[in-house]
Amino acid sequence: RAKRLGGDQMAFYSADLAVEAGRRLTLESELLQAFDRGEFVVHYQPRLDAGTRQVVGAEALVRWRHPSRGLVLPGEFIPICEDTGLILPLGRWVLEQAARQAALWHQRGHALTVSVNFSARQIQSQALVETMDQVLLDSGCPPQALEMEITESLLLGEDSAMLGQLDALNKRGLRIAIDDFGTGYSNLAYLERFPLDCLKIDRSFVNQLETRPAIAELIISMCKVLELQIVAEGVETTGQLDWLRAQGCHHYQGFLSSPAVPADRFETLLAPV
Ligand code: C2E
Ligand code: MG
Ligand code: MG
Ligand code: MG
Repeated sequence: RAKRLGGDQMAFYSADLAVEAGRRLTLESELLQAFDRGEFVVHYQPRLDAGTRQVVGAEALVRWRHPSRGLVLPGEFIPICEDTGLILPLGRWVLEQAARQAALWHQRGHALTVSVNFSARQIQSQALVETMDQVLLDSGCPPQALEMEITESLLLGEDSAMLGQLDALNKRGLRIAIDDFGTGYSNLAYLERFPLDCLKIDRSFVNQLETRPAIAELIISMCKVLELQIVAEGVETTGQLDWLRAQGCHHYQGFLSSPAVPADRFETLLAPV
């Protein structure tokens, strides 16, 4: 009986896998079309000063306006874009949008930092510096107004070419932030070698602040030693914000203030100049 049950489960799993593989193929071809049809859109989530609660920056987050499924979030399609290589043109497109938006906001007197998420493939590309220079030139965006967000796991490899490129970019004035911090395995020695300006504490630690603050405390003291700007991600309650401010966290993002919104809605959150 146990054996038969096992057999049934196998059949069940393989049917499931076939459905999953089919869904994935559909998504892959839809994504290619989506790029050509201009179905991607960039939304901006405000980053606020923990003390004054003024908007100091924006994180560019890509969305897919799917013709029948509505707004699709990046968790569903970025991994596929990374596997297929579409992340390179898509990532460049997001960067161009964000740089243009940052330039526009600066022209209007809003000295915001606009952050853009980079995938491993983009950071490891030998064309990274050239791409960034071109985008800055075309957009008229001041380098100081752009921040590159890279994830912790990227810092683990002994990639001296990548380190060289990041150094060159940082020297131009571009900011570099480490995203989702605490979910990878980096240590102080790794962090010190990279030209970092900012560290974003992962939402999973912010979530647990009220019950298990130890990790967030540790990350914040580490940032102080390394003299990094500290941003808390995923702040949803005033209790969390109060705790973070008391610990010396500089900035925060989260549903407490706003989710990511289209650029025109974002502007309504800015103080008049
Ligand atoms: P991330 O860079 O860590 O971005 C933060 C994510 O947390 C966003 O999800 C944001 O909407 C969500 N979030 C913000 N505040 C809160 C909150 O208070 N509570 C909760 N529960 N969630 C909050 P989103 O937009 O779905 O993006 C997911 C991930 O997709 C991003 O994580 C980033 O890694 C990736 N991503 C987004 N846009 C791009 C892009 O243009 N390029 C690349 N390579 N990755 C991107
Ligand atoms: Mg990010
Ligand atoms: Mg993050
Ligand atoms: Mg995160």
